[in-house]
Amino acid sequence: MRALQYRTIGSPPEVVEIDTPEPGPGQVRLKVTAAGLCHSDAFVMSLPEDQYVYGLPLTLGHEGAGVVDKLGAGVAGVAVGDSVAVYGPWGCGRCHECAQGRENYCRNAAALGIAPPGLGAPGAMAEYLIVDDARHLVPLGDLDPVESVSLTDAGLTPYHAIVSSLGKLRPGSTAVVIGVGGLGHVAVQILRAITATTVIALDTDPEKLALATEVGAHHVLVSDGDAAERIRSLTSGRGADAVFDFVGATGTLDLARTVVATDGDIQIVGIGGGLLPTGFFSTPFGASVRAPCWGTRAELIEVLDLARTGRLSVHVERFGLDDAPEAYRRLHDGTIRGRAVVVP
Ligand code: NAD
Ligand code: ZN
Repeated sequence: MRALQYRTIGSPPEVVEIDTPEPGPGQVRLKVTAAGLCHSDAFVMSLPEDQYVYGLPLTLGHEGAGVVDKLGAGVAGVAVGDSVAVYGPWGCGRCHECAQGRENYCRNAAALGIAPPGLGAPGAMAEYLIVDDARHLVPLGDLDPVESVSLTDAGLTPYHAIVSSLGKLRPGSTAVVIGVGGLGHVAVQILRAITATTVIALDTDPEKLALATEVGAHHVLVSDGDAAERIRSLTSGRGADAVFDFVGATGTLDLARTVVATDGDIQIVGIGGGLLPTGFFSTPFGASVRAPCWGTRAELIEVLDLARTGRLSVHVERFGLDDAPEAYRRLHDGTIRGRAVVVP
């Protein structure tokens, strides 16, 4: 089969021919229908050799959808021909977190060497994908796989962050979204769909701000030195009840700290490597800072159900497998509008 692999540190990923994998006991093989590109892949491929922990060669793709194609021994609960989305943050399935579907916070994954597809295990940018357990599959039903695949990360990750701040997002509140890329443009829609909060979206790129308006942001602002002042004035001086930072650089975290309201939440989703100084006087009284990771199995089911109501639409740029290296170049250059999705 053909697959997109990261093979050499510092080099672009390559389309290669590899053996089609066979599902072992308990495993499910999917014929991949769609695989999304995430900025985290760009982060992984930017790491120097001494910090790179994902194994080589690495078949990329942690957002996956497919049709069940072959079952390993003993698999029950899914059938050949089912259209499914892959829950990516695989855990052990047994610990206290996994028992609640919170496999994204599994206590044993690291020690057991369990890694998500595309971030250690072979990923979805291939003709076939092995999924380690049927519990990591959620039925797509009538949802279009290409338009829905990114809900497994670009939808699930913001949803997980937003749900944990729901108590702050009451009518009259304000949410700030920093970075309206793959995750951010879905975050705006989730905020509009499940809360009555006022959404202020920020980006450095005017095209992304136009997308933010299109998907429902009440206000859009250029992310520059004046942004904090403008947010203060839009909120009558109060600031934002929750700030969702999908960049995570020092500059955006500094903005988050400056504009968060008393008792507000800062959710650091972007892995831009910035640091937020925290001490009694560095953030407003009562403010919380959290670095959420991906989301739970139950939340993925909820995100797909929300999509079924018609209130989420991922803006997709579609690429073939041969064009996937070009799609990663465009992601790196910041010229993807919404999410890039590979259809192998
Ligand atoms: P993306 O490249 O699609 O979007 C990033 C957006 O941020 C772009 O629109 C860009 O113009 C904008 N941006 C860049 N610098 C900015 C600044 N200073 N101010 C405002 N906007 C700025 O990336 P993505 O795939 O949506 O991922 C977003 C981030 O979330 C990445 O850091 C990614 O690695 C991370 N991520 C984290 C998790 C998690 O579980 N925490 C999961 C997935 C992705
Ligand atoms: Zn991701």
